[in-house]
Amino acid sequence: MIKEILVKTALSPSKLPGLDYALNPYRGCEHACIYCYAPSVIHWDQGKWGEHVVAKMNVPRVLSKELRIKKKGVVGFSTVTDPYHPAEKKYQITRRCLELLLMHDFPVCIQTKSSLVLRDMDLLKRFSNIEVGVTLTTLDEGVREKLEPGASSVAQRLNALSELSKNGIRTWVFIGPVMPYLTDGEALVDAITPAKPGYVLVDKLRLKEGVLNNVMGFIGEFYPELKRKYTEIFCGNEDFYRGFFETIKKKCDKNGLKCGLNEVNYPTLSHGASCECTSSVPKAPVG
Ligand code: SF4
Repeated sequence: MIKEILVKTALSPSKLPGLDYALNPYRGCEHACIYCYAPSVIHWDQGKWGEHVVAKMNVPRVLSKELRIKKKGVVGFSTVTDPYHPAEKKYQITRRCLELLLMHDFPVCIQTKSSLVLRDMDLLKRFSNIEVGVTLTTLDEGVREKLEPGASSVAQRLNALSELSKNGIRTWVFIGPVMPYLTDGEALVDAITPAKPGYVLVDKLRLKEGVLNNVMGFIGEFYPELKRKYTEIFCGNEDFYRGFFETIKKKCDKNGLKCGLNEVNYPTLSHGASCECTSSVPKAPVG
């Protein structure tokens, strides 16, 4: 279900490291990732996440005006949707925004889980300052299908990463959120190494409102044997993530890739009754 709306603003200030502005051409996201915390950030009330999307039809027109008066800065696509989720195939709002940003020579940072990004290679190649991040959480297509049902397959994402690099686009890889015992860290690093991404950013699960219940529901349905381990991790046991991050760092060092941990201190929710523990808030990422 896609609703078309008109908006008054296109660029919003971003507090994320490395970004000056966020540009979200859509509200909602058809990728429907189980762990997505965007619904709580944007106070989503338009139905089941992933099944309904709002297309901001006039974003390019608004952006065109804003680019004439805004101070030049890095524009991040997107912070609470994926700029290349399936609706973009039809609407091409992301593409039209890129055309404008290119015209005004604004630096751009894209993060996506979709191979549709390759459609815009002709534009991407012409930017003087652009980087594209591809998110991967697992190499197991069976896990991916359940976890990120609307996103591109693992193979398509790896191919997109490789094609972007081959075409001279600066790339990076986001391994996150790390799903304990499902994210195959070292194998993932090996799989992305041939594409030579500029850096790898690793992040843990962020328990914003609603995420805990969605993830525990997912684990209970598909991987009930992991329920106890997940509960322990959510209750503040840092051993898993500490070990995971150390392993990934070593592997990246060995493969010649720069690696960092996402240390943005997102606010996290207080645990609800569904977490059987007494600790109130999960700790920040290790390192
Ligand atoms: S791609 Fe990003 S915004 Fe879209 S559902 Fe997944 S986590 Fe949320």
